[in-house]
Amino acid sequence: MRGAGPLRQRSRRRVAGRVCLAGDASGYVDALTGEGIALGMAHARAAVAAIAAGSPQAYERSWWRATWRYAMLTHTLVEATRVGLVRRGLVPAAATLPRVLVAAVNELARPATGPDLEGARR
Ligand SMILES: Cc1cc2nc3c(=O)[nH]c(=O)nc-3n(C[C@H](O)[C@H](O)[C@H](O)COP(=O)(O)OP(=O)(O)OC[C@H]3O[C@@H](n4cnc5c(N)ncnc54)[C@H](O)[C@@H]3O)c2cc1C
Repeated sequence: MRGAGPLRQRSRRRVAGRVCLAGDASGYVDALTGEGIALGMAHARAAVAAIAAGSPQAYERSWWRATWRYAMLTHTLVEATRVGLVRRGLVPAAATLPRVLVAAVNELARPATGPDLEGARR
């Protein structure tokens, strides 16, 4: 039952001094779209890059860059599936339009990019 949610976590800030929040603790919408682990890894890379560069505050911006697409898409999906008709129709619609489903899944799985995260990958 604890794995059933609601899983939402809100945070006002991700950085305090040299402490950075990453993963679910830094802000989480829902497990519905299944990319929490990739997101946590992206946060960790960005946090390490910011700390190693001597500017932990920069992590706040790279956190948003890594997170906004997931947050927007997952929030939209969670809100849309509150409506019974949408919830019941989602799986049949995905089966009818597999290309749309694949495009949506690929969009979620696409790694976050940006100067800060590129630096972290190096
Ligand atoms: C039902 C469900 C299905 C999911 N499916 C997927 C999926 O298919 N793919 C995917 O990528 N993600 C999935 N997720 C999301 C994914 O599990 C999380 O995003 C990910 O585990 C977050 O990692 P984390 O390290 O931030 O937090 P956690 O994995 O929650 O790790 C936090 C750790 O801190 C420990 N802890 C807490 N408080 C303290 C304390 N005071 N002192 C010491 N330790 C403490 C906890 O015991 C825990 O081990 C799913 C989640 C759920 C609930």
